Amino acid sequence: MTTTLIWFRRDLRLSDNPALQAALKDANQLIPLFIQSPGEEAPWQPGAASNWWLHHSLAALDDSLRHRQSRLVLAQGDSLTVLKRFVEQARVSRICWNRLPDPACRQRDQALREALAEMGVSVEEHDANRLIQGEPLKTGGGTPYRVFTPFWKALQAQGLLIGRPKGIPKTLPPLPDRTASVSLDSLQLLPKIGWDQGFYDTWKPGEAGARDRFKQFLKRVIEDYPEWRDRPDLLGTSRLSAHLHFGEIGPRQLLQGIATHRDAVHGRRGRGSDGTEYLRQLAWREFSAYLLEHFPHTDQAPFDPRFENFSWANPAQSREQLQRWQQGQTGIPIVDAGMRELWHTGWMHNRVRMIAASLLTKNLGIHWLEGARWFWDTLVDADLANNSMGWQWCAGCGADAAPYFRIFNPVRQGVRFDPQGEYIRYWVPEIAALPDKMLNAPWEADSKLLGQAGIRLGRDYPEPIADLAATRHSALERWDRIK
Ligand code: FAD
Repeated sequence: MTTTLIWFRRDLRLSDNPALQAALKDANQLIPLFIQSPGEEAPWQPGAASNWWLHHSLAALDDSLRHRQSRLVLAQGDSLTVLKRFVEQARVSRICWNRLPDPACRQRDQALREALAEMGVSVEEHDANRLIQGEPLKTGGGTPYRVFTPFWKALQAQGLLIGRPKGIPKTLPPLPDRTASVSLDSLQLLPKIGWDQGFYDTWKPGEAGARDRFKQFLKRVIEDYPEWRDRPDLLGTSRLSAHLHFGEIGPRQLLQGIATHRDAVHGRRGRGSDGTEYLRQLAWREFSAYLLEHFPHTDQAPFDPRFENFSWANPAQSREQLQRWQQGQTGIPIVDAGMRELWHTGWMHNRVRMIAASLLTKNLGIHWLEGARWFWDTLVDADLANNSMGWQWCAGCGADAAPYFRIFNPVRQGVRFDPQGEYIRYWVPEIAALPDKMLNAPWEADSKLLGQAGIRLGRDYPEPIADLAATRHSALERWDRIK
């Protein structure tokens, strides 16, 4: 009798899950396990929005397992202690899991592999959430890539789709008798105060939710993705980031879906994008995980060492500005719209993430880690690799980053990417009555216009948090000191 354990982590799906496929081989009994051990991910324990998602994703996974005569076993505490308990009590002889790129998880997994091997348990590691299987890509000189475009070219040259993604197993081996589990509610993942209504209105965590969203993307968006992807006022992107983060759908499945769509539907419709631009974004995701694996200090420290001596704003003196930014009360409409979208839905459009991050790190000079921490707690798609790379890119200190001296002008960005002001009017209704040309810079409107729109700046909507031209100038001076 072989009893195998599949340890689900951020691969919360049954289809095309390599660790699950491996666990099924020769198993007479199978324990599908999830362990809650947030301390092991310190200093990046999952934030409140991620925990909301995780709760519902675990419920969905349990439901799918029950449809296949199994169920999800939940445990809390130190991973090694929990796994040892299953090895001793249920005589587990094989444990399969999928790798994670986060430095703390990789260190933990290394220690677990050694401890379990000493106990005679065979451990198998797989990749569920990556485009690259097996050996990581290297430059001609044998070093890791630091720049995206050559990495993307190498990825394409390697050939993107390796093998056909697998479907969901129809049945699963039973659990050993009397396998105990704690209840989902006892993990206390949901918030105690109900700030999460907007999340319920926006998301359907779990494998089926991921599949539905991807279908919608193929049906309605993919052909227009290159033109729409920068427009926060349109449903122009896939919104799959949280599903991808939790491994409810894998990039190989997306690749296959796009290839099938390209052959069957795109050929017939014969218009718009064939999906390459979308694959490029998935490659950015791949690049961020790759960078974090090769440069594991970059979740905390700048990729560009010149920034180790950068003069960021004093945290005590900038606390009030940080709070205004977090609350969507900066007085810069496109930034406030994004920060409010984030608070209400747990997600923010990529273009607005860049604008909000640029304002915080460049105009206000606040350390990128302050922004990264806020996103970490509030994003449903909070992902250490993507978040660290995104923040460092915007702050100018990352790999292949936007040069520091390129500072977004949030007014111009708003005019360009939210041309009719629909996004701003939705999230910042207090200034909705302003005419389009004043919507991105209400401080430039004269008092008559403001009066007609029923707005008194400083009372109904804040004065701008900073003079954009003057703060741009001081950001460039700070840069001059280290460049
Ligand atoms: P789509 O445009 O549909 O793209 C498809 C997928 O490609 C995304 O789901 C995502 O997995 C990946 N992707 C797209 N853009 C990027 C990018 N620039 N970098 C890396 N991967 C990308 N993404 C996260 O998943 N988690 C984060 O914590 C995160 N933090 C960010 C912080 C900042 C400051 C910035 C500028 C970006 C951050 N991003 C993060 C990247 C990006 O904003 C989101 O992945 C994207 O907005 C998700 O929406 P979507 O699924 O509709 O994307």
